[in-house]
Amino acid sequence: MITRDDCQLMDEGDALAPLRASFLLQPDEIYLDGNSLGPLSVEAKQRVETTLNEEWAKGLVRSWNAAGWMDQPLSVGARLATLIGAGASDVVCADTLTFMLAKLIGGALELRPDRHVLITDAANFHSDVYIAEAIAARAGRPVEVRAIDRSTLADHLSDDVALVMLTHVDFRTGEQLDLFSITAAVHAAGALMLWDFAHSTGAVPLDVVGADVDFAAGCGYKYLNGGPGAPAYGYIAPRWQNVITNPLPGWLGHARPFDFTLDYVPALGMRSFVTSSPSILALSALDGALDVFARTSMDQLRSKSLALTDLFITLVEERLEGQFEVVTPRDHARRGSQVSLRHGESYGIIQALIARGVTGDFRDPDIARFGFAPLYLRFVDVYDAVDHLVEVMANAEYRHESFTHRNPVT
Ligand SMILES: *Cc1c(COP(=O)(O)O)cnc(C)c1O
Repeated sequence: MITRDDCQLMDEGDALAPLRASFLLQPDEIYLDGNSLGPLSVEAKQRVETTLNEEWAKGLVRSWNAAGWMDQPLSVGARLATLIGAGASDVVCADTLTFMLAKLIGGALELRPDRHVLITDAANFHSDVYIAEAIAARAGRPVEVRAIDRSTLADHLSDDVALVMLTHVDFRTGEQLDLFSITAAVHAAGALMLWDFAHSTGAVPLDVVGADVDFAAGCGYKYLNGGPGAPAYGYIAPRWQNVITNPLPGWLGHARPFDFTLDYVPALGMRSFVTSSPSILALSALDGALDVFARTSMDQLRSKSLALTDLFITLVEERLEGQFEVVTPRDHARRGSQVSLRHGESYGIIQALIARGVTGDFRDPDIARFGFAPLYLRFVDVYDAVDHLVEVMANAEYRHESFTHRNPVT
């Protein structure tokens, strides 16, 4: 049996432990939901304060030039690029994820005009499927969106497939897909690959150049800790830049926005995927949030993330034997940075844990989901979280009537 002392020793040997001090966490909270909304960091707060007090209050409209606001979608994109293995000028920060996907899907479908199928995963996040269907319906030719069982992908890769869009880490189960082999298989069929890195960015090492990915997008507010509604990002392989067109053009993607001409001339490179005014306060929060990533590496974060999720799985097996199905793969190569447990009472279990100061979340119909962000979580947090879970189960606290009403956000 693993003891709390064992976990304390693991914390003492943890080279990343000092990074926790960057986060404004409540002392008695165990936060296992950084995969849904990352916590505030000192750096993000300071960066927003500088934007408010200096750039906006004093600099006013001059800050578009003087404070680099105009370039912020690209300058923040350049910092983010290091986390996904991209070149510094190949990432843009803008919009939120669903909008960024819309632009990439629309642009990508035009690059394969003779093909009529867009493949995605039936288990994908619903928003990705909604937007894929809406954009496909406006493609100017018939495009069928096929939401498949992803294990059958090879059977669907015919020469009529234009685009494959998959989410790299499954938001429900925490399963990580193989970036390299799937991208290669899609390319072998002559199709293009769009990866959604919502649950990967800042959580697992990514290598878009090595895997030869065409397009990718991800979320700023999950493991990146950019704040609620933080901007998303988009990646376009250099070979497609200045070839793909942004289907939602706006003045800030124009080569010369201040010429005010009615002819749309796209800017070169990733700037053409900026549509309208960047949300500077939100970009500043994300910019500040990235500071902490600069003090470590994705490989270091990954080792700790796997140690945290291994510990959680082992403790659940040791102390709650047979009560939960561990849905997340044990195989490291197939695991993201979360662990999902299946139980018929998962909604009430999560509510009971939240009442005890342990925040995870519930995903319909029966998943209790726990995210393990290595920047700020301690091994003792994992131990204590399982301790609470053991008590919730032993006392059947999930049956309490106050936990049966479903909140709009689960
Ligand atoms: C979180 C998430 C989204 C959310 O998109 P927004 O448009 O930023 O609200 C979309 N897709 C996936 C796979 C996600 O995990």
